[in-house]
Amino acid sequence: MNDNQLIANLLKFKNVISDNVYKSALAKLDYGSNKKIDRLLIEDYKVPKDEIYREIAKYYAIPQMTIDVKTLQESDIEEIKRLISLLPKELKKEVYGKRIIPYKLDKTKNQTLLILSSIPTDSISKLIASSLKYKRYEVIYCPFESIDGIIRVLASTEQDEYLRKILSESESEIDISSKGADEEQEDLIQQEINKGALAYLFEAAIIEGVKSKVSDIHIIPYDNQSVDIRFRIDGKLLLWKRKENIMPQAFLSVVKDRTANVDRFKIDEAQDGYIQRDIDGTTIRFRVSIMPIVAKQQNRNYESIVIRILDDRNVIENIDELGFQSQARKDFEEAVTRPQGLIVVTGPTGSGKSTTLLASLYHVITPEKNILTVEDPVEYVIKGARQIKIGLRLDFNQAIRSILRHDPDIVMVGEMRDKETAETAIKLANTGHLTFSTLHTNDAPSAISRLYKMEIETFLIAYAINIIVAQRLVRRLCDKCKKSINIKKNSAAEISYLLDNGITEEDIADGKIFTTVGCDNCRGTGYKGRLAIHEALFFNKDIRHAIVESKSDIDEEMIRTIARKNGMLSLRESGIELIRKGMTTMEEVVYTTTIA
Ligand SMILES: [Zn+2]
Repeated sequence: MNDNQLIANLLKFKNVISDNVYKSALAKLDYGSNKKIDRLLIEDYKVPKDEIYREIAKYYAIPQMTIDVKTLQESDIEEIKRLISLLPKELKKEVYGKRIIPYKLDKTKNQTLLILSSIPTDSISKLIASSLKYKRYEVIYCPFESIDGIIRVLASTEQDEYLRKILSESESEIDISSKGADEEQEDLIQQEINKGALAYLFEAAIIEGVKSKVSDIHIIPYDNQSVDIRFRIDGKLLLWKRKENIMPQAFLSVVKDRTANVDRFKIDEAQDGYIQRDIDGTTIRFRVSIMPIVAKQQNRNYESIVIRILDDRNVIENIDELGFQSQARKDFEEAVTRPQGLIVVTGPTGSGKSTTLLASLYHVITPEKNILTVEDPVEYVIKGARQIKIGLRLDFNQAIRSILRHDPDIVMVGEMRDKETAETAIKLANTGHLTFSTLHTNDAPSAISRLYKMEIETFLIAYAINIIVAQRLVRRLCDKCKKSINIKKNSAAEISYLLDNGITEEDIADGKIFTTVGCDNCRGTGYKGRLAIHEALFFNKDIRHAIVESKSDIDEEMIRTIARKNGMLSLRESGIELIRKGMTTMEEVVYTTTIA
């Protein structure tokens, strides 16, 4: 989007211009008018200039001020006069003509030159500052009439012929920017936003995020002069950078401007968009979520931005890498190699369900089979599958309803979110299709109750499902710094915490139980990467029988007892296996398997 388009959109959104004016003005620009949109609207459509520039100033978070010349001190007038007198003649003309004047020095801000401007994005401000030899300057938007009043006061004491001429002409005839100056002068603020440090910071954040295997990047205003960029690494949010001395709105605009499908002028509604970048020779996709949030100062518009990184290189395509314990691995293999039936992966948000589903799909994809997926939103591109596109004209439930007619062999239904999708998934599984889906439940037996409460008949549940896998992710101990626990050296409290939760003294004596230390490799956390733990409930004859025999409710405890006889480990036990292999800690396992 170029500057003209951007400003036109802003003004239409703010109801400064009507839809008709918007279309007509953009058409004129398309036909080669070389005016800038603001001049075009002022001159050809008589849009009041202050309405235009006030909105532009607000958008770029440029401070605003209205000055009544009568309240100006004598010394202020003298200072303005002095500053203008130092300017070269040509620039002086523009200063008067455009109503952009040097105002005074702000001594609290490190000798910053304040410039009052009726055209807040005009780059004359930069020229004024540089000819007066000030490195720092701040533009303050001030309405045309305000500055005009000041200039008239100056004129009454000034013997400047050009100044008198300007003031005697009607304002609409003043056009001193006509000598191609507009072409040369890029919009100052726009230029800074596009090419400046903010864009660089944003690009640096996403590159660093990808390289450090961050799952999400969070961008949130910290206060009205700084922004926090946080990374979610291995499930925990860490501050990556607090950028100070920037206006949060300006940085949020930079991010929104780089996000497809997002309207950067909308600041009070939820928006979803996406970004794509080539990093290290790979195309990385980013899903962007934008939410309005409350600021301490009520007149400010704050937004929170969360960017999910979708890096196909992080997709696991081999189920051996999912970390199943031996019995679960065997059961899972059997479940996914049957020609039909439902495979359910369950767990809270962020428990790695989609990683497991993807790896399972890759395990069964072959060119002779039609693999259809219905997910909303699609996260990863799955090679060899047809991923149905959910959008305005096809919603999730419509897609589910149509899927049987699309001749599938294997189907992935992103989530059984209601009775209708659950019924369809069960029906697919019972009519010759291998079907994969997810549920949000804490453990495997409670997934059966969930389906029962969705009013799916016990008979259908019992015979459709091949396996239910409950899953959690635990952080993996950093190999560079982990340290073995020693009965003599570690505290009695640490030792008894392990013993109370299922570790034996022999395990500890073998030197295979470790604790965290923290080093550069793991950002001081003691952990690097994550591992999955599972509770895999395989549906054999006994389980099916118990479900069919259920009367008024599903007896989860009975199902659990039968499954344990068949070798099912609970999530906690699966985690303890990993502790025994020296891969994680009791703290991690207890934390992720404690049900709130
Ligand atoms: Zn470490």
